[in-house]
Amino acid sequence: MTAKHIDEMMMRHALTLAHRGLGHTWPNPSVGAVIWQMHNGEPVIVGRGYTQKGGRPHAETEALAMAGDAARGAAIAVSLEPCAHHGKTPPCVEALVKAGVGRVVTALEDPDPRVSGEGHRILRDAGISVMTDVLKAEAERVNQGFLLRVREQRPFITLKLAQTADGFAGADGKPLMISCAMSKHRVHLARASHDAIMVGVGTIIADDPDLTCRLPGMMHLSPIRIIIDTHLDTPSTARVIETAAKVPTWIITAEDAAVDRETNLKREGVQVIRVQKDSQGHLDIKAAMRRLAEIGITRIFSEGGPTLAEALVVNRLSDCVEIITSPEALGRAGYVALRPALKSALADEKLFVASPPHVMGRDHLQYFERVR
Ligand SMILES: [Zn+2]
Repeated sequence: MTAKHIDEMMMRHALTLAHRGLGHTWPNPSVGAVIWQMHNGEPVIVGRGYTQKGGRPHAETEALAMAGDAARGAAIAVSLEPCAHHGKTPPCVEALVKAGVGRVVTALEDPDPRVSGEGHRILRDAGISVMTDVLKAEAERVNQGFLLRVREQRPFITLKLAQTADGFAGADGKPLMISCAMSKHRVHLARASHDAIMVGVGTIIADDPDLTCRLPGMMHLSPIRIIIDTHLDTPSTARVIETAAKVPTWIITAEDAAVDRETNLKREGVQVIRVQKDSQGHLDIKAAMRRLAEIGITRIFSEGGPTLAEALVVNRLSDCVEIITSPEALGRAGYVALRPALKSALADEKLFVASPPHVMGRDHLQYFERVR
């Protein structure tokens, strides 16, 4: 194994660790770190860590704690440039220098203009060998939410939409129970790796969903629930409102929505966020996402119906689209899942790269990834 192979192998491991923190570290990025020593030409891992819930402790601190004295003279792979600013705890670069680490391998420079390059510089000034941009493209993918928040002032959005074999999302004022058990499991797993789940008020009224992660042992990983509700029409009897004291629930509404409704929702523990309307009198979805990024949200899983899905895609706000198609047809008229603007955007190769559909239990799942 060459040194380059070892660096990449360790970075791949660090990125896998970083993946574990996704959905739980906002507004901070989820970072992974692996420390290793060379013994007879073979790398031996002596410490590893990833960003803990809420963003602290950092990955480097976790890995250094595990390595103890073995960190002296060791190499460390970190998926993002180590922090250099003094916050609630001393910066990671200081901890790395103090531990006597001999070599630092990173995947990405911190995009925050106040930080970028400073961590690397301090490490080099301390006589540590620094190698940057190792598996950069892979690291950009893992950290897309954090990067978009800093670079484009919006969160990363995964959009999920389920349809019948003949293309309907709902009928007779109700969504259809479309997805199979395996697809549902996958959805609950996806919820846990996002900072927030988002739906429109129509979904709340029609379906009254819980919007929590109900896989065994994962309830505590339920993200924030966000409802797009222009006129504050969310009923106080909705499950998301009744459980708002336990699972954070935010409603994004228009600046002119009724104040008394806001007061009632706040009493139930809901956080109400007001944003401007667009020129057509609809809630400005771009402004809403900008506001969420300002608050610190980096990753959103959108489970709304066709209206919200179309708005997100038309406004170029969705980064990954997942279409779940059941083998059963509705066989009569219903609500079309993929409206014309959404359908044509997904078919446009300049906008999205489509994966071949894969089998998910009884259903088919197709991914569309935004072209950057
Ligand atoms: Zn740090």
